[in-house]
Amino acid sequence: MGDIVSKSEFVLNPVTAPEYRCDPITGIWSIIAPERAKRLAIESENRSRCPFCAGNESLTLPEVFAFRAEKSIANDSNWRVRVIDNLYPAVRLSSTEVCYQPNDCPDHVRTFGGGCPAQGFHEVIIEGPEHERSFVKLSKNLFREVILSWKQRLLFYHEKKEIGYVQIFKNHGPEAGASLEHSHSQLIALSDPPGFIAEEIRSGKDYYQQHDRCTWCDWLKKELDLGIRIVAQNHSCVAISANAARWPFETWILPRTHFSHLEFTSEEIFEDFIALTQNVLLGLHHALLDPPYNLVLHSGPMRCKNLPSFHWHLEILPRLTQPGGFEWATGRHINPVPPEQAAKFLHRVISGE
Ligand SMILES: [Zn+2]
Ligand SMILES: [Zn+2]
Ligand SMILES: [Zn+2]
Repeated sequence: MGDIVSKSEFVLNPVTAPEYRCDPITGIWSIIAPERAKRLAIESENRSRCPFCAGNESLTLPEVFAFRAEKSIANDSNWRVRVIDNLYPAVRLSSTEVCYQPNDCPDHVRTFGGGCPAQGFHEVIIEGPEHERSFVKLSKNLFREVILSWKQRLLFYHEKKEIGYVQIFKNHGPEAGASLEHSHSQLIALSDPPGFIAEEIRSGKDYYQQHDRCTWCDWLKKELDLGIRIVAQNHSCVAISANAARWPFETWILPRTHFSHLEFTSEEIFEDFIALTQNVLLGLHHALLDPPYNLVLHSGPMRCKNLPSFHWHLEILPRLTQPGGFEWATGRHINPVPPEQAAKFLHRVISGE
């Protein structure tokens, strides 16, 4: 049969575990994860008994990390932030197989179809024991502990040799992909940075090789000089309306000084980042009446602590418009709100001017 996968292999072995699949024309990878379909049915059954509320710990997998009351024990109900493995993972680490990255997949997977195991870890960060659906309404301390738990999990994965990149993200509102309303964020740990973040890392490296400087540091300096797209700022962090924003009110938060990894940032920057993020999200919440949004944390890849060509940042992506045919066809977004106007409006709301 050579390298070509036989038709009977798919019929005899239907996909159950998450798999990487490659488009042979574009080389773009997808993850096929049939288990994810089950979550919709189970979540609707459990609407009255939320698996993320304190007291319902038995409905989830055991915790892997938590901020909890002194003298409480793992998986009891006295926690403030709780991190668990996702019951319906998009990727999964199998103990019997090496951790594949898509580029290691056999050639036939790339050219003729079939798949190889999509390996990694998929965790949920439950943002508080109460059934609060809004991240911005958490107390300052709880909000801080959520971001602190992101940092702790990033540090944890630096110790895992098979993991090369950790994506932390949040979906707020059904339009942004949230299927459970109890406030939570997620983490997917993979063998290597995929797609968009790989592009950012690559283009940062190209710029650094040409100019011997970080592209984000240069960009930030220009934006601060210009001033028209600054949404808010504090001592060590800045929130900016992205110049080529894909989405209305898309806002990026980044530290003023160069750090490639959130988890290795100085204490002062870390605390300023938390304060500014909560402020900006509150501003968005009030200005746009609790819009659906995604949060995307782009921190540097694992296996290194300091990359001069990459600058960590948080992307806040409100979902006031849906991608249409043109966006799907081309990958290019049409944004009806000029970023300068978005910045001016948000700045006014946040500063109370
Ligand atoms: Zn709940
Ligand atoms: Zn930089
Ligand atoms: Zn980014």
